[in-house]
Amino acid sequence: MQSLLLWINGKAVPGSEHQTFVVTNPATEEPVYEVAEASLSDVETAVQAAKTAFHDGRWSKLPLSERQMHLLRFADLLEANQDKIVEAEARQSGKPVKLVRYSDLPFSIDNLRYFAGQLRNLEGQAQSEYNGAHSSWIRREPVGVVAGIAPWNYPVMMAVWKLAPALAAGNTMILKPASITPVTALMLGSIAKEAGIPDGVLNIIAGPGRTIGQALVQHPDVAMISLTGDTATGRQIMSAGASRVKRLHLELGGKAPAIVLNDANLEAAIRGVAVGSLVNSGQDCTAATRVYVHRSRYQDFLDGVVQAYREARLGDPLSLSTDLGPVVSQAQWQKIDGYVKNAVKMGGKLLLGGERPPHLSRGHYYAPTIITQVEQHWPIVQEEVFGPVLVVLPFNTDAEALALANDVDYGLASSVWTENLRRGLYFSRELAFGEVWLNDHLPLTSEMPHGGVKQSGFGHDLSRYSLDEYTTVKHVMADLNNETVKGWHFTILGDVPE
Ligand code: NAD
Repeated sequence: MQSLLLWINGKAVPGSEHQTFVVTNPATEEPVYEVAEASLSDVETAVQAAKTAFHDGRWSKLPLSERQMHLLRFADLLEANQDKIVEAEARQSGKPVKLVRYSDLPFSIDNLRYFAGQLRNLEGQAQSEYNGAHSSWIRREPVGVVAGIAPWNYPVMMAVWKLAPALAAGNTMILKPASITPVTALMLGSIAKEAGIPDGVLNIIAGPGRTIGQALVQHPDVAMISLTGDTATGRQIMSAGASRVKRLHLELGGKAPAIVLNDANLEAAIRGVAVGSLVNSGQDCTAATRVYVHRSRYQDFLDGVVQAYREARLGDPLSLSTDLGPVVSQAQWQKIDGYVKNAVKMGGKLLLGGERPPHLSRGHYYAPTIITQVEQHWPIVQEEVFGPVLVVLPFNTDAEALALANDVDYGLASSVWTENLRRGLYFSRELAFGEVWLNDHLPLTSEMPHGGVKQSGFGHDLSRYSLDEYTTVKHVMADLNNETVKGWHFTILGDVPE
């Protein structure tokens, strides 16, 4: 079993209490990594390392060209180490190597390069004498010590989505990956060091959210919490951070609808919804989980999507011909199965799946599952299942489709399938989601924001919007007139001028 240590102040270190935990391969159910578990005293050491590194300016006061160079080198080294990272990612999470090698990792590398470029282009209003007597200008400054708390579904990509904008903006950070998948995030420490990122700027610690994560959130020297995770975790973090009015960035759950209008290119919609729902075995916050299909195309869509689901190849995540790996854990398997069984009990019709695939005797595999005859208010339509499960519902009018699509607590992602651009644009205005795709589902780009509304959280990953969130805006105002008694002083002291 390979061992991994914490990364604090530029060094790989065991936990101060020498506790470790085991990471299990979800495809084989065998232990594959032994990982050092951080103690509360390690949280303190990591925060103090980040605090010192922030205040002495070893990172925040570097010439921006140098900060950029280190991040570009980080990206290059990530690329050079890709074989190692891809394999570790597949082993710890069960993700197919195909997805990591051709999607998660290249996108993470691109993300680092994007933020390395953006950091030299800080934005604000122009300096001017807005009130005539004073010159005003904006300073964009880093927030300070940032805690980045990441989920298990895209371990390396979520780690990079957190650290790239935070470091680009000049912050220092403590990254805490999910305990179930900490390996690839911990591997980033030595890569960052080799890239020349100074010690203490990036610290990575592993341990349970309820203790280690919570301690980070409550720590008085942590200025900002950036979480990607469950909505329930977002609520806990909001209340834990409230006493110190911490800056929060919350990327939470989703329940994305796909709407197939009567004029859609049906083949494209079938393929797009199948891919958009099966991605990462459905463990994706933007996954298409519920599809509303115009009644006139409903049966054809259903036949097509069942066929597409049947084509998905489940198997060894390390094989390049595997489409779907297992889900991440037995607990996740049970959660998915619970939603499916409940929907069937309530009267839903199981068209496919709802079981362990018969040809796979071990591993947390869940067969691609399609359910129809469900009702809008059922948990399987309203809540995050986070598995390869699709519900398909018919609708009659555009207004009905919109109302059903918006009728959930979440607001992260959505898609509309139509050949009519005007209708697509109308839906893009009316859908209450942070992301609307027209005739596709899933693609993202480093230049454009990713974030939710409603209970999917607030704040954005990717894009300059994200960079802005990891900075503070300071207004500096300088008097230019050199008068002792200024024209406005009378409003507080003195008579109204005649
Ligand atoms: P989770 O909320 O259980 O855990 C996320 C992280 O928070 C982990 O590192 C965990 O240890 C930590 N944590 C848990 N409780 C904590 C607490 N009280 N204080 C501090 N930290 C705590 O989520 P998960 O199960 O790892 O990931 C799946 C969830 O993430 C899904 O809801 C999914 O939709 C969401 N997600 C959202 C996005 C997005 O961009 N909006 C992207 C990926 C995943």
